[in-house]
Amino acid sequence: MFVNAKVVLMRCQHNKKLFGVRIQQQYNNAWDLTWAFPISEKRAQNEGFDKESLTVNIGYANTYPGCPYCATTGFVQCGSCGKFTCYNDSGEFTCAWCGNRSNSFKETDSFDLRIGED
Ligand SMILES: [Zn+2]
Ligand SMILES: [Zn+2]
Repeated sequence: MFVNAKVVLMRCQHNKKLFGVRIQQQYNNAWDLTWAFPISEKRAQNEGFDKESLTVNIGYANTYPGCPYCATTGFVQCGSCGKFTCYNDSGEFTCAWCGNRSNSFKETDSFDLRIGED
């Protein structure tokens, strides 16, 4: 069976380190997060994980381990830069990419993703 899988870049809210999240298409625009792995800035750049964009509805596969640094499974999309930071719903959100502290972040399950090939 053909598996359509992509990678989304996120950062950890605690140490601001990059990680890749593998998402796999279930049907139409429904995609599940299936895996997360640490990734270096250099490798992320080389692989061009932000080449494509995609509008998706995100679900969670039960294999999804969460952020590789702090194990948080939640994440939010910054309302300022549009990038993703792991987030565990406890208090104030600060974007790990641009430092935006406003509360204009998305908590919906539909996202515009910048993604790259798995
Ligand atoms: Zn984290
Ligand atoms: Zn941001």
